[in-house]
Amino acid sequence: MGNSVLKKFSAGVLIILLMLSGASCNFAEEEYKREIYALDTLITLKAYGDNAEYAVDCAAEEITRLEKLFSVTDPSSDISRVNASAGEFVQVSEETVALLSRAVEISALTEGTFDITVYPVVSLWGFTTGEYKVPDERELEAALANVDYKGIDFDGNRVRIKKGMALDLGGIAKGYISARITEILKENGVTSAVVNLGGNVQTLGKRFDGNNWQIGIKDPESSSNFAILSCRETAVITSGGYQRNFTENGVTYHHIIDPESGYPAESGIASVTVISADAVLADALSTAFYVSGVQRSQSIADELGVDYIILTYNDEVYFSAGMADKIELNDDSLTPVT
Ligand code: AMP
Ligand code: MG
Repeated sequence: MGNSVLKKFSAGVLIILLMLSGASCNFAEEEYKREIYALDTLITLKAYGDNAEYAVDCAAEEITRLEKLFSVTDPSSDISRVNASAGEFVQVSEETVALLSRAVEISALTEGTFDITVYPVVSLWGFTTGEYKVPDERELEAALANVDYKGIDFDGNRVRIKKGMALDLGGIAKGYISARITEILKENGVTSAVVNLGGNVQTLGKRFDGNNWQIGIKDPESSSNFAILSCRETAVITSGGYQRNFTENGVTYHHIIDPESGYPAESGIASVTVISADAVLADALSTAFYVSGVQRSQSIADELGVDYIILTYNDEVYFSAGMADKIELNDDSLTPVT
């Protein structure tokens, strides 16, 4: 008897608590947000639902673990150890081998416009240290002579690069990390989440209110978005020279290098977004497409079945057929091209 009174009392308190916490109250919609700085990028994790906090904390530990494998600045990382012992085989984790193999595979698919061995050239421009400078021609030529993804050898879990070569996963690691984060969130019962790694976005499930996610694609020349993408679970990864650059004698130089010339790529593309369930592919391709230019990128994207949104310096917006009913352009001066 006393027990049932207690139950009624508890139920009453619960109802009052639910009423006090607002009209739209739904405990499953509670947002948990955490920001982490890793791999030179501000990472924002937002997850919804009961287990969000615990799941996000697990994902944060995963970011730390992956940074220890892939960082080019941490001398004990797998990548730094391979770079420090160029010419010799170095034992690395299975995960590093898998990501390196994937990078090499995508280099072949993109005819080398994506190439993780471009690192010595990226370093000469100062993008690794922030001490920017236009490199000396001879230095640049010497560094460029060693850029070739075909010079990476695998033997089980051992990796070897040729002398003079160095690796950098900066163009692909963020995609791998966002994929791992969403996997971990999922494993921990989260069904709605959005991860943002310095503008590279991956979503899990639907938005907490059941609607599609609305992802803004940044205008390279302002703080607003030139397009809004409506999507469900996917990776939305953007590359653009506006993301990192410096100006010397009135010329702006950015961080995406054409492995052919050793200079910042000039393909007419201002921003390229690749949309795919495969975040690793989307990350590598967005970097490659920025180098490849519109036509080559379109044929690679069609071949691989990934979606894209490309903004050119001529204010044209090229997008794949799959994007036609999913994007909204915010600027009347832009010309859509399908
Ligand atoms: P993302 O922001 O994914 O486009 O990657 C840009 C980063 O990838 C740069 O900061 C460099 O570390 C590296 N990178 C630059 N050019 C290339 C290239 N052609 N292929 C692969 N990685 C590159
Ligand atoms: Mg990339």
